[in-house]
Amino acid sequence: MGRVLVALGGNALQRAGGHGTWPEQVAQMRLTAAVLATLVADGEELIVTHGNGPQVGTLLRQNELAEHELPPRPMDVLGAETQGQIGYLIEQELTAALVRAKVPRTVLALVSRTVVSRRDRAFQHPDKPVGRYYSEAEARPLRKRQGWEMVYDGARGGWRRVVPSPEPVRWIEGEVLRKLLPRGWGAHIVPVVTGGGGVPVIEKTKGVYEGVEAVIDKDRTASLVAISMDADTLAILTDVPAAAIGFGKPWEKWLGEVRASEMESYLRRGEFGEGSMAPKVQASLTFLRSGGRRAIITDPPSLSRAMRNETGTRIVAD
Ligand code: ADP
Ligand code: MG
Repeated sequence: MGRVLVALGGNALQRAGGHGTWPEQVAQMRLTAAVLATLVADGEELIVTHGNGPQVGTLLRQNELAEHELPPRPMDVLGAETQGQIGYLIEQELTAALVRAKVPRTVLALVSRTVVSRRDRAFQHPDKPVGRYYSEAEARPLRKRQGWEMVYDGARGGWRRVVPSPEPVRWIEGEVLRKLLPRGWGAHIVPVVTGGGGVPVIEKTKGVYEGVEAVIDKDRTASLVAISMDADTLAILTDVPAAAIGFGKPWEKWLGEVRASEMESYLRRGEFGEGSMAPKVQASLTFLRSGGRRAIITDPPSLSRAMRNETGTRIVAD
């Protein structure tokens, strides 16, 4: 038994290839919630965090379609909106799943802010694609008038907006949450925190923060949260059952239990996709270096077995 931080990826929230309707998202979350309830029934203390890529994409598109009538909101506000929307969905479905599993808990979603450094080099080199693809003709005025940084994706034949993805430095609400939680809190509460990596803010002067046009990788913030909440296990749920070396190649090999040093050498060799699998592996290694016991990378259906070390990628300290 122990304490687990589960990080939900896009797929745990929204089925790939679906239309993204609300009932679809509810159905998908219901499946994931049942898996999380099993962990709690097995005696684990649970903390949840989640991504928000597809949901931010939807809000950006809504902004765009409505801009002649309603002023668009900046990225940090969209981040906060997705924390509310997804946090609510997790509260609803996880609470119900915990009742069904006869381990009722209060699922408590917090709007979380994550401090980033204004000197982070990501602000000079925005590289995280957000939103939809644009044609050359559409992209030109967006670069000129809106001042967007955009990159051309040859494979998909279009332009995409890129925004900075700075390193998370500190989760603001974490300190007080740790003080507020009573001893043995896991028997009563499941906190849902730092959705979408947390709303990115910079500290202007002591205790005074300002939101910034950026996104934070939820996997990187997850390692911060796992460390500060003293989790034993960091479980990163995505749409593949494990991390692989030779991913997509004829010699592809799915990884089971791997020592941190071995995983680090695969990472350095470039085995893990930038912006997809690499941040999960990096987050896992950061967590283990700070005293975490085990990091798991798997998909929701495999999580219970992965917790018993039967499947999924389990990264352990050397
Ligand atoms: P999430 O929303 O869960 O963060 P991502 O798309 O960012 O999902 O990351 C998961 C994806 O990483 C997988 O669908 C897979 O295509 C990709 N990936 C890149 N490299 C690897 C690898 N070495 N092993 C497994 N998956 C990989
Ligand atoms: Mg991702």
